[in-house]
Amino acid sequence: MKPRCTECGQTIEIGAICACGGVPEFALPALRTFPPGFRQLVRLRRAAYDALFTSGVWRYVELLPPIDRDGVVSLGEGNMPLYDSGSGAEYAGVERLAYLHLGMNPTGSFKDLGMTVAVSAAKAAGARAVACASTGNTASSMAAYAARAGLESYAFVPRSRISPAKLAQIRDYGAHIVEVDGSFDEAFSRLRAMTGEVAIVNSINPYRIEGQKCAAFALLEAREWRVPDLIALPGGNLGNVSAIGKGLREAYALGLIDRLPRIAVVQAAGAAPFVRVWNCGGNLVPVIPQTSASAIAIGNPASWKRALRILRESNGFAIAVDDAAIDDAKARIGAEGIGCEPASAAALAGVRALRSANVIAPSADVAVVLTGHVLKDGEASIRVANLRGDLKARERHVNAG
Ligand SMILES: *Cc1c(COP(=O)(O)O)cnc(C)c1O
Ligand SMILES: [Zn+2]
Repeated sequence: MKPRCTECGQTIEIGAICACGGVPEFALPALRTFPPGFRQLVRLRRAAYDALFTSGVWRYVELLPPIDRDGVVSLGEGNMPLYDSGSGAEYAGVERLAYLHLGMNPTGSFKDLGMTVAVSAAKAAGARAVACASTGNTASSMAAYAARAGLESYAFVPRSRISPAKLAQIRDYGAHIVEVDGSFDEAFSRLRAMTGEVAIVNSINPYRIEGQKCAAFALLEAREWRVPDLIALPGGNLGNVSAIGKGLREAYALGLIDRLPRIAVVQAAGAAPFVRVWNCGGNLVPVIPQTSASAIAIGNPASWKRALRILRESNGFAIAVDDAAIDDAKARIGAEGIGCEPASAAALAGVRALRSANVIAPSADVAVVLTGHVLKDGEASIRVANLRGDLKARERHVNAG
């Protein structure tokens, strides 16, 4: 099975970016392989005593590229809670809001959904090593799955712009770490200049997208296949919006759902080159990323063209929120006993901003995708807690006065 360019349609190699700016992607599996009663089937699989089907990725195996079942490298990923949030709905100003918490995965981020497929495919293809550029979560996930698979792994990370927790996690799983001066974008360039027999497992790897699209299936399944009005998620390299958009489109094409939700991509204001394209058109102009939400500190996103297409098709939105709004949203999510890393909180801040601008209705039923676990960035938690402490102290002062 050969992937094709998302934009011009020609077949391209895994790990390559097309001259036209597109990236490789697998086509929807042929409809005739789609078993009748699929919804019921995946529901039964959830309860089966079959290690493979305890994965919320491999449960949807008919919708994935063919990979020999014995070669699958899984850590039981893809079983995420969907938390209803009263106070989150109130904060954002919408009728209904729930968090799909992809941080509740084996290594604490959504990257695991894609990595199980990418590492399984790399192993099946005979790769001896895998590599990625990462702000921390991709590398953590890659390192864990590579270790499970018995493969070497190489993580290119931006020096001193990665949270200590993520760096510690990558070390724990035994990856080789290459620290690169600059941001994610420089690390990504360095990675792509690397030669030899390594499989690149960034989100330009189409297997990653196939796994990550299962987040859309999981969300729909948890809602008994009722479609929300809006799905909001943070955008960095724009792989995840591509994946979730692909999953939704496939679910629609297969008749699993009867309409498509709108999708909102939220970027940090200091790393929002995609929002600029969305608003102003033209080609993406890379920026030097500047945000404390390190997982989305990306100035030259690889998947901007396909993300643009997906957002247009979904009648969606791209919006930027500043770091103060992100921290505020993070505090709200923490105060609900849920918690997440800063990049994830951007999604809630984005829904609030869309509602303030009156471009979504107060009656909206919204799913917010939380991408990373709260323990991924302890420094951010302390910064936000101090912020809240200051606010409380000021309130007390006002009340006393
Ligand atoms: C990777 C990541 C993102 C960004 O996802 P993209 O696919 O690069 O757009 C957002 N939040 C967290 C926590 C991440 O790990
Ligand atoms: Zn192309």
